[in-house]
Amino acid sequence: MAELRLTDPLKNVLGAPTAKALADGLSLHTIEDLLRHYPRRYAERGQLTDLRSLEIDEHVTVMAQVLKTDVKSYRDRRTGRNADRLEVVVTDGTGRLTLTFFKQKWRQRDLYEGRIGLFSGKVGVFRNQRQLTHPDYVLLPDSAELPDAAPAEGAEDTVLRFAGQLIPVYPATAAMPSWKIASAVGIVLDQLPEDLDDPLPLITRAAHGLPDLRGALLAVHRPESHDDIAAARDRLRWDEAFVLQTVLAQRRLAASALPAVPRVPAAGGLLEAFEARLPFELTGGQVEVGTTISDDLARTHPMHRLLQGEVGSGKTLVALRAMLAVVDAGGQAALLAPTEVLAQQHHRSITAMLGPLAERGMLGGSDTGTRVALLTGSVTGARRKQEMLDIATGEAGIVVGTHALLQHKVSFFDLGLVVVDEQHRFGVEQRAALAAKSRDDARPHVLVMTATPIPRTVAMTVFGDLEVSTLTELPKGRSPITTHVVPSAEKPQFLERAWTRIREEVGAGRQAYVVFPRIGGDKDTDEDVDVAEDSEQERRAPLAVLEWADRLVDGQLAGLRVAVLHGRMASDEKDDVMRRFAAGPSSPDGVDVLLATTVIEVGVDVPNATVMVVMDADRFGVSQLHQLRGRIGRGAHASLCLLVTEMPPGTPARERLDAVAATSDGFELSRFDLESRREGDVLGSSQAGRRSSLRMLAVLRDEDVIVAAREEATALVTADPDLASVPALGRAVERLLDEDRADYLEKS
Ligand code: ADP
Ligand code: MG
Repeated sequence: MAELRLTDPLKNVLGAPTAKALADGLSLHTIEDLLRHYPRRYAERGQLTDLRSLEIDEHVTVMAQVLKTDVKSYRDRRTGRNADRLEVVVTDGTGRLTLTFFKQKWRQRDLYEGRIGLFSGKVGVFRNQRQLTHPDYVLLPDSAELPDAAPAEGAEDTVLRFAGQLIPVYPATAAMPSWKIASAVGIVLDQLPEDLDDPLPLITRAAHGLPDLRGALLAVHRPESHDDIAAARDRLRWDEAFVLQTVLAQRRLAASALPAVPRVPAAGGLLEAFEARLPFELTGGQVEVGTTISDDLARTHPMHRLLQGEVGSGKTLVALRAMLAVVDAGGQAALLAPTEVLAQQHHRSITAMLGPLAERGMLGGSDTGTRVALLTGSVTGARRKQEMLDIATGEAGIVVGTHALLQHKVSFFDLGLVVVDEQHRFGVEQRAALAAKSRDDARPHVLVMTATPIPRTVAMTVFGDLEVSTLTELPKGRSPITTHVVPSAEKPQFLERAWTRIREEVGAGRQAYVVFPRIGGDKDTDEDVDVAEDSEQERRAPLAVLEWADRLVDGQLAGLRVAVLHGRMASDEKDDVMRRFAAGPSSPDGVDVLLATTVIEVGVDVPNATVMVVMDADRFGVSQLHQLRGRIGRGAHASLCLLVTEMPPGTPARERLDAVAATSDGFELSRFDLESRREGDVLGSSQAGRRSSLRMLAVLRDEDVIVAAREEATALVTADPDLASVPALGRAVERLLDEDRADYLEKS
């Protein structure tokens, strides 16, 4: 027989029906696909599965023992006749599960009391009992001496007889129960060539004491001990991390090979004038990252950098300094924001920070100044024409906008730097669309900013094609924020106290936010609440700002100047409300209390606001709450954040809120947040390919592996960009890229 290769189609070895079932149900097409379909867990002979852990609707394979059987009669609705139903109760010693077979009472012959087997099916519920209907099963031979047991018929039983103490349980489908997969894997393993090409370089394996690929695959599918499994899993995690980091290192290398115009600011320009005007000192981190960025900008290859950091750490300022440097070097900088509100806010704050420097051409403006253009969907008519013209002529050195900037019609005079704010809402493709607007012979430099802090390994995986800079330090003079959970169901008086606190703060000249998870009114849509609904069903609708506004204005907040802000308002209305809130209490049309939805989540910067009350706080995610809370504590006065919830203590929802109240460290919260999510959600939707290719690797847990793999993969790619020295790695990279492409095609 010809030697088996990992790239061979499964039907060559398994026969068409099995190959088709594996392809249809599990998308496994090649030998490698099947070998990389790792067991989810291992059933241990003599140890039954904990039946309490089964989740409704999940496809499960359990090892359990038959407790009793019972034949019941029921009326078949179709035929109108009586029929019989076999109910088999199986147990793990404590919990129970019912197996139901309609019109198959002959199965009693095999399924007698005391019999142990693997049962596989989808968990359903009938009369409050969890059950499997018509499960597939294989029964363990009766005798305890397994290897000597009477030979049974069929591949399934062969697998059970040969499997050691640990029986692999695979992610399975109805057509392909776990043991059929095991049997297919067994056939492939028996033909595996001795010298299997290994994508992990020998030197890496040696340095980290990792088994070779063949050994790892044998051990993960046919382990003899828990140590076998652990060693195999370690090695396979390395595979995933290394291949992924190789792809990312190649992307970084390719990107850095593109041409870019070096942007070195002329002395005595805007940047210097701006710095002279700054009312505060830069933080150590801002200085350091600023130097890194100006070094990047001075290169003849484009910068691709991620700037992430604690909420309120002053990322915008770092970005603005980079933009000014580019303007001083004769180029233009674009700032791309995910929402209209945020674009307006950036435009407003950048214009304010620049002062006369942003008023070139206007009376009183500075000679060295520039113009800050704003281009969003709602900038229309003559105003839009003017902005487009200023962008095209280079009159506007800085351009702030939303997706509208990506349109074909928008052309830049000389786009040198693209800053993407709050990257998690932008896709890679959009970044690319903007990058394409630079001069034909060069690419712009790119700086990406995230809204919330993210753990280092997540940054290395999700944004792995970018270099990462992090701001951890907050500017001096920030006042601390105290956060409390307000249990409004148990302690309604606490909520009353919250309104009193708002009145007190406004009385002292401060301002307040009240945040709601829903807009309300006609359309009953939630606004951007990113937390999954908890499992309790039939929860009441989240509190809505429009439904509460009147009540508060006439009641608890009577006499204060209150305004409403939400995503369905027209953008000039939004802009007006934000302007009045930012103008503060001393302004004749100022606003004291802003009742808002999550439109204020990111970017909004009003240092005089010192209280935030978040209604139905349990409806928000941890990172979202941290980001919201970052809207206060921006000035010299102590701030207070109140998380109002009806969730009882001890529930997961309450625990999340307690976590937010307990720390103001965004990195810690981000970890906490991500740990409670599934891996795919950690990586985000734009990373679908990476999701499916990460089977063993967990981005948060396997920090060591990811960091080490990144270093070694980068070194390898630098020395050997085409991976000529490790052909199997080259193929693995291709596989990953194909997966990525397939996902991309599916999406588009
Ligand atoms: P984030 O990193 O969350 O985007 P911002 O860029 O919005 O933070 O900055 C928050 C506020 O801090 C802004 O008002 C900004 O002007 C101010 N700020 C930035 N850097 C400093 C500094 N070094 N000292 C004092 N205030 C600063
Ligand atoms: Mg910001």
